[in-house]
Amino acid sequence: MVSLRTYTTEVGVLGRIKTDLQTHGVIVPPGLQDELEREWNAPAIKNGRFVFCLKSPVDGHLTTVLIINGKFADNSPFHLVKSGPGEFEVWKDYVKYTEVVMLPRPKFYDRKTSDGVPMSDIAVIGEPNHLRSVLNQRCVYQQLGKACKFCAVESWWAGYRDKSPAHVAEVAEAAYKEGMAKHVTLSTGTKLTTGKGLEDLVATAKIIHQKAPKATMTLNFEPVTDYGLLEELLLEGKKAGATTALCNIECFDESMREDIMPLKGTHSIETYIKVWEKCTEIFDHNEVYTMAIAGLGESDESILKGVELAASHGVVCSIVPHTPMRKAVYEDMSPPEVSRVLYLYEEALPIYDKYGLRLYGGTGGIYTSLKGM
Ligand code: SF4
Repeated sequence: MVSLRTYTTEVGVLGRIKTDLQTHGVIVPPGLQDELEREWNAPAIKNGRFVFCLKSPVDGHLTTVLIINGKFADNSPFHLVKSGPGEFEVWKDYVKYTEVVMLPRPKFYDRKTSDGVPMSDIAVIGEPNHLRSVLNQRCVYQQLGKACKFCAVESWWAGYRDKSPAHVAEVAEAAYKEGMAKHVTLSTGTKLTTGKGLEDLVATAKIIHQKAPKATMTLNFEPVTDYGLLEELLLEGKKAGATTALCNIECFDESMREDIMPLKGTHSIETYIKVWEKCTEIFDHNEVYTMAIAGLGESDESILKGVELAASHGVVCSIVPHTPMRKAVYEDMSPPEVSRVLYLYEEALPIYDKYGLRLYGGTGGIYTSLKGM
């Protein structure tokens, strides 16, 4: 019997709603898609990816929900409705389910970089005050036909695939000056270099730091196993404004890792621990994150043991429901049941508490409903 203790509190109810919407998807009628793409922060809505916020009934705090409408969402009972000027709701079949808040459209979406690329194809606002971009969107593992099976990085939100550090920095400067972003998450597909692409994130951070010295950043990368180089890059990144590191493990079950991630999964869990330790040494506890995906065939036990393992090294491991993406190898899978995801959240919360970890102190969390619990 699953305890729903947390999800019966007012704030916990938002977690339940968020999980429900993420694991079913939210259908947006074509006419409304046009309007949202034109007038709101929804540049990739026609790709099935968009964000909105749920407002806390307690303090008005906004919890961001990232929706990824894969094939599974074609039969979702949820659909988005415009209920008035600038007002939106999600309905479940014929009944209102929740109000949602769309984020305003940044002005920089209508601008182009100095070499003519639409800025909204370089980076997007993923949460209030938070810009995101993925460099090296042509991950080398995808090029080799050995992509992680849950991943569709090539069709991620900001569609320009040949982004350079200068492109991303130019958009970050525009977003910062417009007052739309104080924090930038820099992610990368993997490169065939010793730095695996982290070197490009650091190069980007350095340019951003020159143009917007107060902007803070998250560096999101695959394990770099040259630990001397890793330390050097993280220290340079920190000097350039990076405050947080994100190194996603995705699956803690050693017997499944290489099947799910044919090349990335060859990194052992031990390797992740070494990388996390280097990250916490430089960025401190509570500033290093990883992620476990629920719904790839793993057991609850492997996820919860993994959350504890990461926490014991000062690393926050968020649990994310698998929302199978179009164009990923796993695009025909189904997301996990809501009750299972809520059970995992419920069991993970005391683990974070035990190790004194806060969940995403303002720099992420759009994939997990644990933020704001
Ligand atoms: S998740 Fe795997 S396939 Fe996707 S970008 Fe990262 S390394 Fe490449």
